[in-house]
Amino acid sequence: MQEPRPARFRAVGLNNVAKRPEWSRLDPAERRAVEVVSRVLPFRTNAYVMEELIDWSRIPDDPIFQLTFPQRGMLDREQFDRIAALVDRKAPREEIEAEANRVRLELNPHPAGQLTHNVPELDGRRLPGLQHKYRETVLFFPGQGQTCHAYCTYCFRWAQFVGLPEMKFEARETDDLLAYLRAHPEVTDVLVTGGDPLIMKTKALRRYLEPLLAPEFEHVRNLRIGTKSLAYWPQRFVSDDDADDLLAFFEQLVAAGRHVALMAHWSHPRELAPEIVRRAVARVRATGAQIRMQAPLVRRVNDSAALWASMWRIGVRLGMIPYYMFVERNTGPKNYFEVPLARAQRIFADAYRQVSGLARTVRGPSMSAFPGKVRVVGTAELGDQRVFVLELLQARDPERVGRPFFARFDPRAAWFTELAPATERDAPFFATASAALASAASGDRVVA
Ligand SMILES: *Cc1c(COP(=O)(O)O)cnc(C)c1O
Ligand code: SF4
Repeated sequence: MQEPRPARFRAVGLNNVAKRPEWSRLDPAERRAVEVVSRVLPFRTNAYVMEELIDWSRIPDDPIFQLTFPQRGMLDREQFDRIAALVDRKAPREEIEAEANRVRLELNPHPAGQLTHNVPELDGRRLPGLQHKYRETVLFFPGQGQTCHAYCTYCFRWAQFVGLPEMKFEARETDDLLAYLRAHPEVTDVLVTGGDPLIMKTKALRRYLEPLLAPEFEHVRNLRIGTKSLAYWPQRFVSDDDADDLLAFFEQLVAAGRHVALMAHWSHPRELAPEIVRRAVARVRATGAQIRMQAPLVRRVNDSAALWASMWRIGVRLGMIPYYMFVERNTGPKNYFEVPLARAQRIFADAYRQVSGLARTVRGPSMSAFPGKVRVVGTAELGDQRVFVLELLQARDPERVGRPFFARFDPRAAWFTELAPATERDAPFFATASAALASAASGDRVVA
């Protein structure tokens, strides 16, 4: 049988979406939403996502349509109207951009002290392409990996896609990474993240990671790559020009004794269905690299226990390891996607109960908050008080990991900062970014 010709990657955004045959499936209000909201929040999808993943007979409720197409409800009415007025009177591009920037700043894209608290220093110099929050693991944001094959509408990283330079994280070189790792033998894991680092050519990825195979970096045992390419562009692992070289590179890292893990972002079981995805997963697994599954729980995209159970079950069948269910961070379009913590915990527990032990490697629902990754374990009665039972899966202070603590139950709370300690004993777990800053000013170290 003849192999079909490899598909070429075709990005779709505001500039060309109207030329797509699917555009006529959107009603006028949906088109207007795309045209207005995408001035503020980056819109990028691709032909594969549109042809293979979105079910056009189900829009606008279709989960993958919600995942990659800007929606009216992602801005509040007043913000939407401000931008719409400019679009309607065909205002100059710079004028629209200036207003869009104002809206973006209102949307506050960097919660959890990301920019201020986790940027490490070396010899008194800040290293902006790195984050070091948890002792074992350094996050590395390669400068060339700051985009994705499609953008998730809820993504908190959108600030780095839209050209607000003062908000970008970026590392142009590996030098900072290497110097930092030399000085930090306690670091066992490097997690390359973005954007999506696998947007890069394999050659670029090699330039960043190959130096870590030198004997002086023996302590860096685990190389992880955060990616959504398996879902948004599986051709990256199968038919792209440098797909074979990517797999050869994984093999090389594994042969050098490194644990290689793709931290694969899967939002919906439909992403796992295409034949090419199955091939991509099998090819990665054949290199000796692991694939771990993680995603945020997002209203309108995947807020159903049956859906998560199915995703984990299929994942395990394909040889992947369920890893994290995240609570979506409190960023701009959040209210649109928000799932209250009480409901998130019920969805997690209902899904967890439906799967075999092999899928119960998953942990969640987890919030990446200032003190660490906070898991909502469940609810309980403490005396006559209803409480959330919480635990830290990761913490700035490793001593705090795995010790249950309690917050007052609040059915509407959707993020850690909306919770209050149940008792005085719980208060230390609720240290805030501003309190930490104050103590830093008094001499304590909060930055790794
Ligand atoms: C999640 C996360 C990690 C990795 O944590 P693991 O539990 O080891 O997967 C590292 N750094 C930051 C900032 C994180 O949010
Ligand atoms: S693939 Fe990841 S980084 Fe890219 S938009 Fe989606 S969540 Fe954000």
